[in-house]
Amino acid sequence: MTIFQHKCRICKTEDNHPTFIGREMMFGTREEFEYFQCKSCSCLQITNIPDNLSRFYPKDYYSLNSQPIEPPPHILNFFLKQRFRNALFNRGYKLNKILSNFIKIPTLKVDKVIPATEFIQKANIANFDARFLDVGCGQSSNWLNTLRQMGFKNLFGVDPFIESDARYNGITIFKRPINELIGNFDFISFHHSLEHIPEQETTLAIARSLLSENGVILIRIPIVSSYVWDHYGTNWVEMDVPRHIYLHSLESIRLLGERVGLTLYETIYDSLILEFYGSEQYLRNIPLTADNSYWLHHDNQIFTDKEIDEFINLAEYVNKNKTGGRACFLFKKSSH
Ligand SMILES: [Zn+2]
Repeated sequence: MTIFQHKCRICKTEDNHPTFIGREMMFGTREEFEYFQCKSCSCLQITNIPDNLSRFYPKDYYSLNSQPIEPPPHILNFFLKQRFRNALFNRGYKLNKILSNFIKIPTLKVDKVIPATEFIQKANIANFDARFLDVGCGQSSNWLNTLRQMGFKNLFGVDPFIESDARYNGITIFKRPINELIGNFDFISFHHSLEHIPEQETTLAIARSLLSENGVILIRIPIVSSYVWDHYGTNWVEMDVPRHIYLHSLESIRLLGERVGLTLYETIYDSLILEFYGSEQYLRNIPLTADNSYWLHHDNQIFTDKEIDEFINLAEYVNKNKTGGRACFLFKKSSH
C-alpha cells in the first residue's frame, strides 16, 4: 500500500502534492511554514495547521485591518433611503424621480472596487427587511456599516475573536463561533474571513443551515488561480502565511460549495493595487508593517510614481481578464 504524504482537506485527494515554503511577512517574523497544492483541485493549503493560531493575531491585528466607521447618517438619511430603495429594488417611486435631481446616491464600494449595490442586486434582495449576517467581521464591520447607510436594519455579525459582544448604530455583533448562532438569514457574507478558518466544510455547512430558502452566501477570498500566484509564488502578499490556511482555486471553492449543497452562480473579481505593491515588497524582503512599507505610508519612496501607475493598471487588467488574486463568489442553495 502506498502511503501518500498529504490529503487535501477540500477534495480529499491523497497524493504527494507539490510543496512550497512561505514566510510570515505581515509582521516580518519570517517564520517559515510549509504549504502544499492539491494536484486535483489546486487548493493551496498549509500542511500542518498550527496549534495555537491566536499567536499569529497580535493585539493590533484588527486595528490594522479595520477602517474608520462611516459617520452616522445625517439629515438627508430619509431621502437617501428613498434613493437607495429605487436603486436597489428597481421600483419607480415618483418621489425618487424628483429627489434624483437633488440627491446623488453615494457610491458605497466594498474595498473601493465593487459597488455594494451590485451584491444586493445579484442576490435578489427584495426589500429593507432582509436579514444579513457577516461572518468573521471583527469588532466593526465595514460591510454592515455600508448596508446600514443604505437603509437595511437587520444587521448581524459574528466573530469569536473579538473582545465582547458589540451593539452600535443598530448593528449587533456576537462574540462567538458561527456554530453557536441561531437564526435565519437572507444574505451571509465572508469578507476575507473563510481563508482563516481551519474547518472549511463544517463552517460552510453551518452557514448553509442558517440560510433562508432563497438566501445567498457571499464569499470573498484570495484566489490561487491568479496572475499574482503565477508571477510571485510564495511572495504573493495575500498568501499571508500562516494566517491564510487555504488559498482556494476557482475549482476548489466551487467544489467546497457543492459538497455542502451550495451552487456557485456568480464570480466577480475585485483585485486591489495592494496585490501588486505588497507582493513586490515581499520580493524585496520588506514586511507589510515595516517602517518603509508603502502599505503604511503612501509617501514612502520605495516605489516610483510610474511603478504605482503600473500596479493600478495591472489590478484593473487582472480583474477584467479574470486572473485577479481576489474574487467574490455568490452561492445559493442547490435545488436537489
Ligand atoms: Zn484537492
